[in-house]
Amino acid sequence: MKQKKEKIAVVGAGLVGSLVAIYLAKRGYGVDLYERRHDMRRSGAEGGRSINLALSNRGLLPLSEVGLGEAAKKMVIPMRGRMMHSEKGALTFQAYGREDQAINSISRGGLNELLMNEAEKNGVNIHFNHRCTDIDFDNSKLFFDIDGAQKTETADIIIGADGAFSVVRGIMQKTDRFNFSQHYIEHGYKELSIPPDADGNFKLEKNALHIWPRGNYMLIALPNLDGSFTCTLFFPFEGDPSFEKLRTLQDVDQFFKATFPDARELMTTLLEDYQQNPTSSLVTVKSYPWVKNKTLIIGDASHAIVPFYGQGMNSGFEDCRILNQILDQYSDDWKTTLQVFSNTRKIDADAISDLALQNFVEMRDLVADKDFLLRKKIEAK
Ligand code: FAD
Repeated sequence: MKQKKEKIAVVGAGLVGSLVAIYLAKRGYGVDLYERRHDMRRSGAEGGRSINLALSNRGLLPLSEVGLGEAAKKMVIPMRGRMMHSEKGALTFQAYGREDQAINSISRGGLNELLMNEAEKNGVNIHFNHRCTDIDFDNSKLFFDIDGAQKTETADIIIGADGAFSVVRGIMQKTDRFNFSQHYIEHGYKELSIPPDADGNFKLEKNALHIWPRGNYMLIALPNLDGSFTCTLFFPFEGDPSFEKLRTLQDVDQFFKATFPDARELMTTLLEDYQQNPTSSLVTVKSYPWVKNKTLIIGDASHAIVPFYGQGMNSGFEDCRILNQILDQYSDDWKTTLQVFSNTRKIDADAISDLALQNFVEMRDLVADKDFLLRKKIEAK
């Protein structure tokens, strides 16, 4: 492929930034990818924790388009349905679809490394320890802090893929007629785990997304390749029960024994995990327009959503696929591409954002509701 003349700078080598860099390098652009953190392939991204995500067909399609479909499939554990755990330990399985249909549990760090490796194979220059601090939209300039030293770069096109608390979006926010909203829900989350048994085997059904729905809150667990499950407790910050009310490790132990008794037995590292892992908040971010001159924001930077539909990364990957499609359609005319992308994609981003909020109610509450299950059966007929 002939090398194209435009130089592209992508801010953020997370999941979406790395994927868009691959797409653009494959189109023949010179791509520089700037990442605030150091290289996770050397240091381990998650401080020894395994954090996983649900990868659906929406996200697998773009991975396949850039030639990573088979590699990604080797890293996943298919989850064919939800396994609900009642307070008494009774199990109910709801298939997501037909036998061959599933969503896939995949390691966040593993997938990010796969994407960064592929980006480099395609000629992308990744610059670590580069924290973007400012953008000059009129002159397409980027400003970085590298361990206290300042650096300026220029690019023909800038793509901000720097996550929910995007600096690039923050600078757009200061420009005229930029709309922005940010909403924190009343729940936060904490990552916990169910280690494998002594023989390295899964302690629960491997091919399922496990849910302990408890009305206003829930615990979920997704399988990892090493036989463990990563659990997430979605729980109110305040009220009763809440993170605030679980003051001591004894409170935590008692609460889990009473509320998630079958899980508690398997969570042999619960108290260490609870103490060590942070309690994090959950935010929905909406913004518009996503383009300022030659700078575009994508992924969580433009539309961060709550995780209950498992679609944040998947829709960010879809951003990359659609951007590539529009570049095809308009023969790499960036001015038109950026406008068409921003105009058409916003509607879908808003839709998935609303669905994600609604699905929290279904997961934590309605999945355990017998009337709801009956209604679902009737609707399915
Ligand atoms: P990020 O992953 O946040 O990456 C942004 C990158 O930019 C990072 O590498 C960061 O270091 C870098 N960066 C930030 N600021 C700067 C700067 N100033 N300069 C340079 N670099 C910078 N999605 C799913 O599809 N399925 C799921 O199952 C799922 N589960 C989730 C569970 C939880 C608890 C949460 C919180 C989210 C979940 N998501 C899920 C959403 C998913 O994590 C995000 O949508 C996805 O990570 C967005 O990718 P991104 O590349 O846009 O942003």
